[in-house]
Amino acid sequence: MLPIYSAVQPGVSGFERSGNPETPALGRGSRRGIQRADYMRAVFLDRDGVINEDRDDYVKNLGDLKVYPFVPESIRRLNNAHLPVFVISNQQGVAKGLIAEEDLLAIQRQITQRVEAAGGHISAFYYCRHLASDDCPCRKPRPGMLLEAAKEHGIDLADSVMVGDSECDVLAGKAAGCRTVLLLSGHAAAQDLDNLASKPDHVASNLSEATEYIVSLYGKAPKR
Ligand SMILES: [Mg+2]
Ligand SMILES: [Zn+2]
Repeated sequence: MLPIYSAVQPGVSGFERSGNPETPALGRGSRRGIQRADYMRAVFLDRDGVINEDRDDYVKNLGDLKVYPFVPESIRRLNNAHLPVFVISNQQGVAKGLIAEEDLLAIQRQITQRVEAAGGHISAFYYCRHLASDDCPCRKPRPGMLLEAAKEHGIDLADSVMVGDSECDVLAGKAAGCRTVLLLSGHAAAQDLDNLASKPDHVASNLSEATEYIVSLYGKAPKR
């Protein structure tokens, strides 16, 4: 297993960062008029089941991609609330040979275009391309991708939110010290909530509803 911080070399490890590296530093400090350029809060989104419909046999190519219609506008709303958005996605289908790297990136471009057409922006995409059995530090429920994003972008994880549709997203978010929101748009079902070992801070039906919660959280009740 390669060390986690070789991650920025595309194709060398499971990580690849892409997108706009110049995400502005915005956070509560700037709300108060205090210049804290080294500080940024963020919203981390799982991809499958959050941005687009998931599939049992992996979202393998553009033909499999069905972006939820409310997602571009939700991301625009988060950005307007000074919340940069990052995608944090397990894609072991790559290691299994079921997803070609070019298709993974074509899906990323399509999501990016849809979001930008609505006036939103995704700052970067992070993928774990390893097998579950690889025991890598990046595959959720481990927090490696969140830690990497925080390091690269100067994100305050304790003032950030992880949104996902699986318990592994909640576990990764908590392990990184983030708030967590579980969506019922994908894997998690309402009847499963009582059985979760790790409870999210909030449950929402989809990203649109989660956006209401996150914007109200940061608009009205700053944590510190
Ligand atoms: Mg998911
Ligand atoms: Zn990995």
